[in-house]
Amino acid sequence: MENYQNFINGKWQDCKSGKTFENRNPADWDEVVGIFPKSDKEDVEMAVKSAREGFNDWRLTPAPKRGDILKKVGDIMVDRKEEIARLMTREMGKIIHETRGDVQEGIDTAYYAASEGRRLLGHNAPSELENKMNLSFRMPIGVAGIITPWNFPMAIPTWKIFPALVCGNTIVFKPASDTPATATELVKILLEAGLPPNVINIVHGGGGKVGTAIVNNTDVDVISFTGSSEVGQTIAEAGGRQLKRVSLELGGKNAQIVMDDANLELAIEGVLWGAFGTTGQRCTATSRLILHEDIHDKFMEMLVAHTKNLKIGNGLNEDVNVGPCVNEGQREIVEKYVKIGKKEGGTLVCGGEQMNDGECSKGFFYKPTIFTGITPDMTIAQEEIFGPVLSVLKIKSLEEAIEVLNGTIYGLSSSIYTQDVNSAFKAIRDIEAGITYINGPTIGAEAHMPFGGVKATGNGHREGGWEVYEFFSETKAVYVDFSGKLQRAQIDNY
Ligand code: NAD
Repeated sequence: MENYQNFINGKWQDCKSGKTFENRNPADWDEVVGIFPKSDKEDVEMAVKSAREGFNDWRLTPAPKRGDILKKVGDIMVDRKEEIARLMTREMGKIIHETRGDVQEGIDTAYYAASEGRRLLGHNAPSELENKMNLSFRMPIGVAGIITPWNFPMAIPTWKIFPALVCGNTIVFKPASDTPATATELVKILLEAGLPPNVINIVHGGGGKVGTAIVNNTDVDVISFTGSSEVGQTIAEAGGRQLKRVSLELGGKNAQIVMDDANLELAIEGVLWGAFGTTGQRCTATSRLILHEDIHDKFMEMLVAHTKNLKIGNGLNEDVNVGPCVNEGQREIVEKYVKIGKKEGGTLVCGGEQMNDGECSKGFFYKPTIFTGITPDMTIAQEEIFGPVLSVLKIKSLEEAIEVLNGTIYGLSSSIYTQDVNSAFKAIRDIEAGITYINGPTIGAEAHMPFGGVKATGNGHREGGWEVYEFFSETKAVYVDFSGKLQRAQIDNY
């Protein structure tokens, strides 16, 4: 067990109050992974001051040089991939194959960011006047407040921090208190790769204290938040009052449609991975399965058999398919929704209870759970559960399937299994979601593609790919007049 610290103003240090919290393994609650500072507003203020001081030198560092540091970050992450993946599994329970993937997403994001240091493209456009040129540049914004959830402890922070850095911003980072150890490894790697100390600051602690203090600090210019819709709303309100730039990536209620012409074996593999991967704790998890009535019964028979075969246990075992819920509170939320599902008339066809046998006795395990007979108005067809619970809805046509899929407040990920090219393209056009997979599950984003959702899933920004670089930079329009005289736009030519 290790004692961890904040990194503020170029120094690893305890929080001012000296208070701490424990980070425990959700697969084995007896194991304490680390002790972390339980920071307050005061610590955040120091971190913001440090980031502000670091900003001037960092903004003047050429973007390709900033990118070179991210290249080294990627190289170090390659060397430490296995070590970080194992730590991540211990602190949040996700199975080792997935935590390796989580680190790999960070590596991919680092190399993409490194190359973006040599792009950060602006535009040029002709001037309407003679002997004049018009250009636009991408400028750094200032101090970026980065607030992240626990389900992708490496990938999500890197989606935000790497582009923010390449664009010339400095960072105050508050990771989720369920995953502070992986976050600390990321900061150590950034420093080892040569990032100047004031440019990155990490402050551990709870959202109510540390997160709120970052959002409310008027010296933080831009906030990038991923987490629940409830918290996202409060951040949008606080950010709005300060006219602060805010990116919100929030909840989802993602669905997979399976049409009567689909390859059923493929669709089964997709839904098993989408619904029960990460124990259903992904913002893009398949939480609803929309089945055509002609294949419903056959598909359910196959799906239930496969689901019962999933191996539940400690994610460090290579043959385990489903790890624990991240903590007791999250398992209680799952139990609450299972109760509601039964009460509202859903038919429980598998799971629906905790798993406490053998190696599962010390953790927060819950059996993969499926409800059939769900109608679109039921609570478990509408609300995000964030656990291994799948609601199955029956439909008669593609149009009905899309209407059901679109019938929630969220719009993050979506999927359709069909062999009919016309159905696929109608789905691409009509589904209201930031991401649509054809013949693939609702999970599986790649680091160089835009990631994010529509409707209540966010506020219109995207992470990943090229779009996030626009979020983390300001556009400056520049006019260069070399005519040697006053030229008046809109007046002299007309
Ligand atoms: P959460 O909203 O509880 O916490 C997210 C982060 O915000 C944590 O670091 C937390 O400490 C902090 N926080 C909490 N209260 C705060 C406040 N008042 N002010 C500022 N910060 C505060 O979410 P979670 O439980 O960590 O993650 C699960 C949620 O995240 C789910 O709803 C999931 O859908 C969502 N999520 C969305 C995406 C996406 O890209 N759309 C990705 C992953 C997770």
